[in-house]
Amino acid sequence: MKRILNSILLLCAIHTSYAQSNNNIARPRLVVGIVIDQMRWDYLYRYYARYGNDGFKRVLNGGYACQNTTINYIPTYTAPGHSCIYTGSVPAIHGIAANDWIDNATGKSWYCTQDDNVKSVGGSSKAGKMSPRNLLTTTVTDELKLATNMRSRTYGISIKDRGAILPAGHLANGAYWYDDSTGNFISSSYYGNQLPEWLNQFNNKKWADTLLRRNWNTLYPITTYTNSIADNNNYEEIAKNEQTPTFPHITEKQSYKAIRTMPAGNTLCMMLAKKCIAKEQLGQKDNTDFLCLSLSSTDYIGHAYAPNSVEIEDTYLRLDQELASFLRYLDDQIGEGNYLVFISADHGAAHNAAYMNDLNIPAGSFTDDVIYKELNTFLKEKFKTDSLLRAVMNYQIVLNNDKIKASKTDPQLLNKTIVQFCGKYPAIAHVVDMNNCNETPLPQPISECLINGYNTKRSGSIELIYQPNYYEHGLKGTTHGSWNPYDAHIPLLWYGWHIGKGESFKHNNMTDIAATLSALLHIQMPNGCIGTPIEGVLQSKN
Ligand SMILES: [Zn+2]
Repeated sequence: MKRILNSILLLCAIHTSYAQSNNNIARPRLVVGIVIDQMRWDYLYRYYARYGNDGFKRVLNGGYACQNTTINYIPTYTAPGHSCIYTGSVPAIHGIAANDWIDNATGKSWYCTQDDNVKSVGGSSKAGKMSPRNLLTTTVTDELKLATNMRSRTYGISIKDRGAILPAGHLANGAYWYDDSTGNFISSSYYGNQLPEWLNQFNNKKWADTLLRRNWNTLYPITTYTNSIADNNNYEEIAKNEQTPTFPHITEKQSYKAIRTMPAGNTLCMMLAKKCIAKEQLGQKDNTDFLCLSLSSTDYIGHAYAPNSVEIEDTYLRLDQELASFLRYLDDQIGEGNYLVFISADHGAAHNAAYMNDLNIPAGSFTDDVIYKELNTFLKEKFKTDSLLRAVMNYQIVLNNDKIKASKTDPQLLNKTIVQFCGKYPAIAHVVDMNNCNETPLPQPISECLINGYNTKRSGSIELIYQPNYYEHGLKGTTHGSWNPYDAHIPLLWYGWHIGKGESFKHNNMTDIAATLSALLHIQMPNGCIGTPIEGVLQSKN
């Protein structure tokens, strides 16, 4: 009954809005961006046979798939990924050079959404000192608000602060992220001095407790997980309270942080997204609203268990069901055809290196600590100066420019020495001094990724390109960050308002997403956008 009533109300609403706005530009009532953290493109097909008809398959078969979309910068990390999707820009321009970086001028360490001038709202003090201020360009969500004289409303939701904040942009009405110390969703004073009442009510229900108590067992009998290696293997991290990396994962007595590394983290975000749509009446007013939903548990689970695990398979089978339920919710609340959804990822991930080695495929892991220690010792001896390096991080070497100046070290000789030294490591394929990157012979796609990803103020000036399937991580689980297809090839699916059925294998860059959204909405591109609208998407309806 409630559903029928909703539909009638919606019909009336649509009717009035058409009557009032014949001359208005056609726009969807609501845009929902779903960014799935660490979703490799091949997960769409690896588990295809086991997906239901109403989740990924509904979007794949009823919408438009850009099958050859890649990330056109490095490092392929979460904060740059979310920033790129929503700004159409790259770290060289939008400034989100990594999740963490060192400011080259001051030597100060920064977290991507760190803002010491704001206060936490609704939670522990440190977790809330966040804002989009370090993002130097506008987002497509900002541009939508600018285009509608602020009448559109934009929200960001994620377990990760950066997953909520960066997509929702500078002008967001709200951005909500998970606080490990309380199990609540919180915000910062950047957005206002208190949480909306509906969010307090949501937090008071203590859903995290309920979800942790359910533990994590497989959705189906474990013998049916034939797309994954054995549940008990040597390639996975073992949780602190467990002896083997196997199901069931008992979470009932774990801290709130455990939600991050289980599918329930996605469940919680989906619940909050539905609540936000209902309570803020998104898509029910006269202007297009925008909800940015970033699902991050996929990334924590991927880091711990890697792509071939039963855990990842189970995570995506569950996510498929959650997606189906979320789309049904949008049908009910907004009406089929009235909302536009896009699904993508901030980056992918490599196969576990030890697993690849066991299959006789070249792979390996290597850590920044080793490089830092050995290189620093070598430089100390050669230049008679300690600490010429600030850090090795983000597959980059960050030089200590103050120390170089004060010690009168010849910068050119120093850079050349570092390039030669690091080039000797078998794990490293290329070492590039970004001051003369043109002199290093590199395949064009890699040099493009390097230049796009290099922010002169926030990146290390010497870049390390690892061999394929080598990464900066321990031997258990996996990580990402490279230019290689496993990290850089992302899903990009469009569904709903003005989207027809189809797929294309023409190459697109991640930067084209914001450009395409801007074209669909007839709004200005974000101010650092270097992407191009994807014609196949725009013409799919014809
Ligand atoms: Zn990650």
